[in-house]
Amino acid sequence: MHLTKVILDGFKSYSERTEVKGFDPQFNAITGFNGSGKSNILDGICFVMGLTDHGRMRVTNYQELIYKSGAQHVSSASVTLVFGGDPTTFPRPYQDREELTVTRKTILSGTSKYLINGKNATQKAVHDLFQSVGLNVNQPQFLVMQGKIAQILGMKPDQIMRLIEEAAGTRMYETKKAEVQKV
Ligand code: ATP
Ligand code: MG
Repeated sequence: MHLTKVILDGFKSYSERTEVKGFDPQFNAITGFNGSGKSNILDGICFVMGLTDHGRMRVTNYQELIYKSGAQHVSSASVTLVFGGDPTTFPRPYQDREELTVTRKTILSGTSKYLINGKNATQKAVHDLFQSVGLNVNQPQFLVMQGKIAQILGMKPDQIMRLIEEAAGTRMYETKKAEVQKV
């Protein structure tokens, strides 16, 4: 399972429906001029994955996720992630089709809704979908944001180890091990 397309519509600087595609299954880099919307694409990905801390999408409220905060005839923001690859690697119960799509849409009032494969879904269903493939956008170490690289370079070896454990998903076993050793 890998990301094949990101569709942004009314989200931040993307006033019109914009498809970002051509992703490599393993490694991708987005290049472009300063202020051209590279980080906004990553914000869009985090938005769909259920990021609850809007500050990490660099806005002070949900309305700011909408193009010009809704001041220019755009009253909602939506982002869709399209996943492809071998469907047997998709989370259950979504292995019955060639593509898996997850959408999140927010309107001016600040309410947002999710869709999985075009059908309404709960936030929990989206959370469970990503969690089942080891992705939790709300984990602090999930993303290394712009400006945090210097902080990581300055970390001590044990702090770097903790960061790798968080990213690899093995941190919880360390916690469990420590609990067992206490007994
Ligand atoms: P850099 O190379 O400096 O990191 P970038 O390509 O990552 O730049 P972004 O941070 O993605 O750039 O985009 C910044 C632009 O997005 C700014 O011009 C900002 O005004 C615009 N922007 C952010 N939110 C909105 C919004 N709600 N409506 C319209 N434009 C927005
Ligand atoms: Mg940026």
